[in-house]
Amino acid sequence: MRKAQDRRLSNALRVALFAILSLLSLLLPGCSSFDAGAGNFNTVVVDAAHGGYDRGARAVSGTPEKMLAIDTAQRLTRILRSKGFHVIETRQSDVFIPLGSRTAVSNRAGGAIFVSIHYNWSPRTAARGIEIYYYGARSRRLASHILRETLRAYPTVNRGVKRNNYYVLRNNRRPAVLCELGFLSNPQDNRYAQNPSYRQHLAERVAAGIIAERKGLGF
Ligand SMILES: [Zn+2]
Repeated sequence: MRKAQDRRLSNALRVALFAILSLLSLLLPGCSSFDAGAGNFNTVVVDAAHGGYDRGARAVSGTPEKMLAIDTAQRLTRILRSKGFHVIETRQSDVFIPLGSRTAVSNRAGGAIFVSIHYNWSPRTAARGIEIYYYGARSRRLASHILRETLRAYPTVNRGVKRNNYYVLRNNRRPAVLCELGFLSNPQDNRYAQNPSYRQHLAERVAAGIIAERKGLGF
């Protein structure tokens, strides 16, 4: 008897809880818009990957990743500054910068986002495309904006937005993404990556993704 009452009570609670949750989901249809993304930011930490003895990926032909990354990062810096952003570069020349110093720059910068520029490599030469990595939830939308825009820079494969605990993402207190803008191990992607005018397109599209994020555009 006592048990049956308990069961009735717990059923009633379950029904009430269900009703409350259903009501909440009706009242808050745009719940996902509360995922504010990177929010307001005026500063972009532009991180040119690798440098110095760390050459990054080897290209099937032409310049290695460290040089393509800094060239693309410098193009991105110029574009962002022309749009009124405050930009902090983690490196301005072909020097090695430890990962901890890169995140320290970002963690010191108030109201900033962190954008790391890389080119990819795979032992499988057929692998190609663009993929954008993030770690924290508020960095995901920024990654999606940059992916959508950079896919317009040159014809290649959409490898998606991916979550990974890379050091510079995991140890970053600011919204942070790592852009892999094409495979230097793939002859087609590499041909575009080695071409300055396509690196300019890539930089412009990364900037467009950042601007879309600052405008708080939905996805
Ligand atoms: Zn890299």
